[in-house]
Formats: sequence, C-alpha cells, structure tokens
Amino acid sequence: MSHIAWLSKKLDSGKILCQACSQSCTLYEGEYGTCGVRKVEDGELRLLVYGIAAAVNVDPVEKKPMFHFLPKSKAFSVGTVGCNFSCTFCQNYDISQYPKEHNHEIIGRELSPERIVEMAIEHGCDSIAYTYNEPIVFFEYTYDTAKKAHQKGLKNIYVTSGYETRKALDLLEPYIDGMNIDIKSFSNDFYKEICGARLKPVLDAVTYAHEKGIWIEITTLLIPGKNDSNEEIRSIAKFIANLDISIPWHLSAFYPTYKMLDAPRTPESTLLRAYKIAQEEGLKYIYIGNVDNEDYESTYCPNCQKRVIDRSGNIGQFVINNLNEHNRCPHCGYALQGVWR
Ligand code: SF4
Repeated sequence: MSHIAWLSKKLDSGKILCQACSQSCTLYEGEYGTCGVRKVEDGELRLLVYGIAAAVNVDPVEKKPMFHFLPKSKAFSVGTVGCNFSCTFCQNYDISQYPKEHNHEIIGRELSPERIVEMAIEHGCDSIAYTYNEPIVFFEYTYDTAKKAHQKGLKNIYVTSGYETRKALDLLEPYIDGMNIDIKSFSNDFYKEICGARLKPVLDAVTYAHEKGIWIEITTLLIPGKNDSNEEIRSIAKFIANLDISIPWHLSAFYPTYKMLDAPRTPESTLLRAYKIAQEEGLKYIYIGNVDNEDYESTYCPNCQKRVIDRSGNIGQFVINNLNEHNRCPHCGYALQGVWR
C-alpha cells in the first residue's frame, strides 16, 4: 500500500525534498530515498510501507528499553521494512535493510492504523511502540496510528536513531509520549563509516525532543574497539548530563552480527566501566542491558539510594514497582522522573 508522504516539499528544481529525516533526500521522479521506502511517483513523494507492518509483537515496555515509562506494562510493537541508516552491526538488518538488499521489494502484512490500535487494546497494551526499524522513515504511518492511539487512551513510543527533523518532531510532539534514542557513538567518523549518517543531527534531535518535553531515554550499544574508550563514553555521558541528569542511559552489550563479525562481544567489565563513568558525570539513572545482572537493571532512588523498581529475569519478566501511589520513593518521598500511571 502506498500513501502520500506529506512530510515533503516540492523544490523549484523539480525535485522533491523529503522532510522526515536529516538525510534530507532530494529526489527526482522514480527515485527512492536512502531509506528505500519513500519514492517519487507521479510527481509526489510516496511512503511505500504505509499500512504494511513487517514486524508485530507484544513486548514488555522494558524491552524497548523504556525503564521510566509505565513499568511492567505491555507495548504493542510495530515496525516496517526500511531504514535511513545502514549500521553494519544492525540487529534487525533482515527488515531494516530489506528493500535496499532486495531490489526495493516491500514485505509485510497489511495492518491499518485503526487495526493496530484495536490489536493493542485487545492485547491489553498501554502503549504502541514504533520500533524494530527506524520509525521516522514511516512517519505518516506512525503519525496516523499515534493520533488514533491517543484518542483511545494509549501512549506512543518512538524507538529511534534520532534522525528526526525539527519539523517531524514538531508534528510528533502532541502524540509521542516517549522516545528511546540511540546515541551510537560520539564520533562523526563512526556515524559516517559504520552507520551512513552523521553525529550532529542526532545530538540536535535529542536536544530538541527534550526541549519539547517528550520523555527521553538514551541507549548506547558499546562495541569493543569501536566506541568504548573512556574518552568517548565520557563525552556521551557529559552530553546527556548537560541536557538533564535525569535522562536514563541504557548501556548495552554488542554481539557480532550482520556485517560486523570482527568485533568480539562486549565484556561485562566494559559495561561496568561505562556505568562508573556515567556515575562520575552525575547521571541519576544508569542501566546495563544484555547481561544478566539485576543490580544494574533495577532503579535506585537518587535521593536515598534505596532500590525502588526491581527488574530481574529476562527483560520485563519480573518487574516490581515499589514506587508509592504518587510515584514517589516509598522510603524518602523523592519524586522520580518518568512517565508513570
Ligand atoms: S526518510 Fe527516507 S527519503 Fe526521507 S530523508 Fe530520510 S532517508 Fe531520505
């Protein structure tokens, strides 16, 4: 199903500018954007994956990962094919890179925005997560779904690499309640060579989304030898801390996948080293993912240091939220930041 990609602009040159993401593709008739799912047809930019979901699951919200967002709830999770990045370590490359690697073929099941919302409610979800591939590439599909979800009392989460334009964020702001944004590195060379992108637009999108008051959590996948030096970890921690020390930072472990088979798995010692650096920079909420260590997956009150949300087992399996009915620490009354019930 194809749909007008209305987040676009006709240029005097006859090209069409896509305004969804910071790749800022300008396209002639018949050309595809970098994401492989937006194309100019009959003089209009069209979204080729509107209403076609390539991945649909009911996930614990903790799996997004969102740890300060309706803990222990279910997120109806939807993705399409296509991506504006080309990360060589992509864990979902089978869908994200599919159109680019299969002659622009689009795959998935038909699923209208209305049906997504109905299914989310049928499955007892409190939110819809736009995830698995980069949601900004299917912006119009997410926008229509998120709007309908809000009408039914559901929240919306973007799980993203942070390449949204300001214009896209302005439009998403009323409907997107939370974002998990990757800061994949603090090196522009890393972004350029490994992801086919740039660092600055990501930092700008994080800053702007935070300014708009959207709840943000950050994820960084630490890859041995690529982005795990003390210096780089500290730069990311400082950037987050300068923005807001209450932004949760998820440090997660890499395992060899897709085209990045030469780097080893991330040792736990690296994650612990990063955790310590983040603490030194003053971040209040730091989490370690992809390792089985509940001490580092639980939430501690920044005021009295007592554990207030327990997380153990597989992601989202055992979550005990001990915050009181006002979402405050039950020991000292501190109001923890997040999106609570
Ligand atoms: S969403 Fe796709 S077409 Fe639009 S600017 Fe980004 S990569 Fe290009």
